[in-house]
Amino acid sequence: MTNAERGRIIRDVLGEFVSERQPATKLGKRPKASSKSSGGTAHPPKSQPCEVCGSFFSNLQRWVDEAEEKLKAYEFKSFAVGTKPGADIVRREEALWEEIGIEHCEPFRSESNREFGKALWARIRKEVDEKNPDILVILDLGKGEVSLDIRSVYVAGSYKKLVRGIPQTKWDRYPVTVEDIIAKPFMKALKGKGHSLHAAGREDIDARCLDWRPFVLEIGQPVKRKASLTAMAAAINKTKKVEVRGLKSAGRQDVLAVKEMRHDKEYRLLVEFEGEPDKGRLKQLTKLIGVIEQQTPTRVMHRRADLLRKRHVKSLKWRKVKTKGKKDIYEIQIRGDAGLYAKEFVTGDDGRTKPSVAEFVGAPVKVLELDVVKIYA
Ligand SMILES: [Zn+2]
Repeated sequence: MTNAERGRIIRDVLGEFVSERQPATKLGKRPKASSKSSGGTAHPPKSQPCEVCGSFFSNLQRWVDEAEEKLKAYEFKSFAVGTKPGADIVRREEALWEEIGIEHCEPFRSESNREFGKALWARIRKEVDEKNPDILVILDLGKGEVSLDIRSVYVAGSYKKLVRGIPQTKWDRYPVTVEDIIAKPFMKALKGKGHSLHAAGREDIDARCLDWRPFVLEIGQPVKRKASLTAMAAAINKTKKVEVRGLKSAGRQDVLAVKEMRHDKEYRLLVEFEGEPDKGRLKQLTKLIGVIEQQTPTRVMHRRADLLRKRHVKSLKWRKVKTKGKKDIYEIQIRGDAGLYAKEFVTGDDGRTKPSVAEFVGAPVKVLELDVVKIYA
């Protein structure tokens, strides 16, 4: 039932009472009831627009037309409506409430959402989803236009990074990112305006990630919302740089969930010592298993607070893999909890990580290669 209908019923019930006590208001002249038997109308007669909303509800179809026209450009399954009434309407309705001393009143915004929503639904017949619509249709009466809030499309999955030298997300001078590679076919298929990659942690730019890392891809303001996930995966995997699997449709709530994931990870590093490591200490390297303290590495200070963190080295294996000229090359494999900086655990990061492999064997360490080899998801 519309408020106009409710008003008509109330006036019918009150009948004579209303017409005998026509209120005079400061807001302006109220029209005289045209006939005692009619019980009045919801709004003043058509010639005189409503003092509060300018007879918005009699012109509803004009807004529905505009919304329908703008929505034509987009593919969507569900919608919701919202109203920005503009300062004038809000001021006038508050003045009216004040004047007549009413305590419980429905704001214009609720009625307009309901009526506009019903009228738009009757026209476009799409599912109404207040909580999570594909598109929020905003009646912006302050600006005098309908605007659309096109909600992002989310796709969850896991990726492997098969090559070095690619950052996960936009960073400095790097022209290509893991995010770009994964987003590219989606941007083409869905005609989005932008994209973000939300992942469970990140590997270094020069590290490969050889196990499946969970992520949620977000495509902003897409014109289309459906794409063949098999085709998307095939296009990504064809690059041979990033591989994805398990793509599935996701939602906004999955972004937070994936960012909060805290998985143990296993790293494999190829290192060489500068100078001579203490061979006796080297044999006891597993003594480093346990809790270590890491001050935020200098290389990530631009995006992380400078804090001292306690991390857990849960396992440590090492072996000599080859001799290159005079220097031996070692492989070190470490399992640590989420957030462990593996490279710094090995190099010591100028004393910012304690203890470290370099400190333990008494020789600086150079990391030649680093890979994430296992994510305990
Ligand atoms: Zn009105």
